Parts: sequence; C-alpha cells; structure tokens
Amino acid sequence: MAYQLNPNIKNLTPYQPIHGDFNIRLDANESFYSLDEKIKLSINEALLDLDYNRYPDSNAVELVNTFADFYHINPTNVTAGNGSDELISLIVGTFLSPNQKLLTFSNDFSMYQIYASIYGLETVTYQKNDDLTIDVDKVISLSQDTSIGAIFFSNPCNPTSLLLNRNDVIKLVKGVNCLVVLDEAYMDFCNDDVTGENSLLQSVSKYDNLIILKTSSKAVGLAGIRLGFAIANDTITNALKSVKSPYNVNSITQLVGKITFGDRDLVLSKTKQLVANTKVLQTQLEKIFNLPEEVVYSSKTNFVYVKTNRGKMIFDNLLLNSIAIRYMGDYLRITAGSDTENKTLIATLQKIIKGN
Ligand SMILES: *Cc1c(COP(=O)(O)O)cnc(C)c1O
Repeated sequence: MAYQLNPNIKNLTPYQPIHGDFNIRLDANESFYSLDEKIKLSINEALLDLDYNRYPDSNAVELVNTFADFYHINPTNVTAGNGSDELISLIVGTFLSPNQKLLTFSNDFSMYQIYASIYGLETVTYQKNDDLTIDVDKVISLSQDTSIGAIFFSNPCNPTSLLLNRNDVIKLVKGVNCLVVLDEAYMDFCNDDVTGENSLLQSVSKYDNLIILKTSSKAVGLAGIRLGFAIANDTITNALKSVKSPYNVNSITQLVGKITFGDRDLVLSKTKQLVANTKVLQTQLEKIFNLPEEVVYSSKTNFVYVKTNRGKMIFDNLLLNSIAIRYMGDYLRITAGSDTENKTLIATLQKIIKGN
C-alpha cells in the first residue's frame, strides 16, 4: 500500500497570516516600534565577534540570566524557546500522554488547540460567559474529568484583551490536579512594573503544576527573532530542558535578546507608550461603534477587541485601504499602531462606516 500521511496531519494547511503588502499592519499584535538605534548599534558590534561556526549555548545561559533579572525571577526556573510557539508545541507534545485531553477556553489563542490536534489529542473547550469573562469554578469542574492532562489559556487573553484577576488564576491553579499552562504573553501591558500584581511569575515555584509562558514578540518588540520563555518550578523546568531540542535558540537570537532585555528602561518606556496608544485607540473606537449593541472591550493588552456584526464589511474595506486587522466572525481585533497609523485607521473607519 502507498505511503499515507498520519491522519492527524493529513488535512492540515500551512499557517497563513494575512498576506500582501499593506501600508498599515494592525493584525498581529506586534509592537509598532522597531528596535532602538542605540540597541541596533550594540548588536551590530557584538555580531562581529559571534562564533558563527559554533553551536549556540544550549541553555542560553547569558540570555536567561538577563531575562530573569528583568523580571526579578530565578534563572533556574527559566527555559528559552524559539518563540513561545515552540514551547507550546513542546509542552503539548511531550507533557501529555496520547490518551489525555487538553482543556482550553473559547475564545482564546487558537494555537493550543491546533498543536493538540497535530499530536492527535482531543481538546475540551470551556465556553466563556457572554461578556467574555471566565467562571473559574466551571473551569475547575470541567477539569475534574481525569482524562484532562493540561489547561492552556492566555492572561490577559488574546483575542479578548481581558484580564482574569490574580486570585482567580491562583484559585484555578490550586483547584485542579492537571498541569496549567498560563500564557502571559500580554502581561507586561497591565502591570505598572514587571513585578506587578497581576502576574504569577514571582510565585511560580510555589506550584507543582504551573508553567508560565512569556514572549518577546509583543511588548519587547522582537517578533522577528523568535524568542519565548517558559517559567516553572525545578522539576518541570528540568523536564522541559530535557525534551527540547538541544540548540533550539540560535546564537543571533540569544545575542539580540540579551542586549535588548539588558536595557530595562528602554523596554519599559516603550511598553508604556504601547499602552498609551492602545488607550487612545480604544477611546476612539468607542466613539465609532454603536454602543451598547456593539461592544468595545476594555483592553489590558496592546490591541482592542470589538464585537460587531459589521466585522466582515469593515475588515474588507480596511484591506482595500491597505490596512490589515484581524476579522474573527462576530469580532474584530485591532492592534494599536503608532499615532499616525491609529489616526489613519480611525479616519478610514469613519469613512467606511459613513459610506455603508
Ligand atoms: C503572540 C502570542 C504568542 C506567540 O508568541 P511567539 O513567542 O511569537 O511564538 C503566544 N501566545 C499568545 C497568547 C500570543 O498572542
């Protein structure tokens, strides 16, 4: 018989972000800042001494130390990854057994479920309340199904932009017997400081079933170098480091990450500016949409989530004006851009809405 692909992957199609050349890209929650000139120059200089012929440090020790310093955590709890996407894939593929299921929420980041299906694992979905808040007791009760191996969710959530408060997260982590993978990709946007009150980073080692994911693709503005982190207690970290491929984070990424996280003030000031631009965008969107029939959610991230039944029309017309956002059925997700980008977006939206 001819070779047949594994049924888990047979009908998949490659991930396809909106493609094309758009003047304004507000579809992927990237930072609108490119890397600072000062940092670029330090990187250029350091690259001259890079040992291109040698394998990278398999545990990215210098980078991990700088990252841990930045967040005031213990470097022994940190594993670096080739984007947090790699770490999600790794955790789904190795921490769950073939007969276990993954529990995730709707709406939440779609990659959790995608990786589960690639590895042939079933997903159980907790449906959030109509206002997109989360009932932790319901999640805990769903997790009582002993076949559930892990709960994956993002906080603050992509795409809803909402935050589940810290006490509820702790209640969830303590209330379940399975692994909890808490994706804090956007947490930097809702803390006044990196040690802020909403994150569980500082207390991660207290829990024997918690992995926190961080990415440098959003607030830190390094989506192009692919760099993410998993933070967990020693036992979990040891397992993660043992299952990852040995040289998963390349030398150039390690170097760029180390230099960038080393400039704390710069990273924090840019994060602040991203939050400020999101607030402005949110206020302007609240004037454009018809509240309360349409909803503009109160963002704790660098994007704004909107509930509207005009989503497709708005999305299509923005594309015609070379502006890319995300269209997700009853919702739109719009990343905050620079002042100029936001102004153009708002002016174009006003035009589109008037004309329809
Ligand atoms: C963007 C995003 C990621 C991806 O991070 P990478 O480090 O770029 O792979 C992970 N989780 C959530 C919730 C995200 O929005």
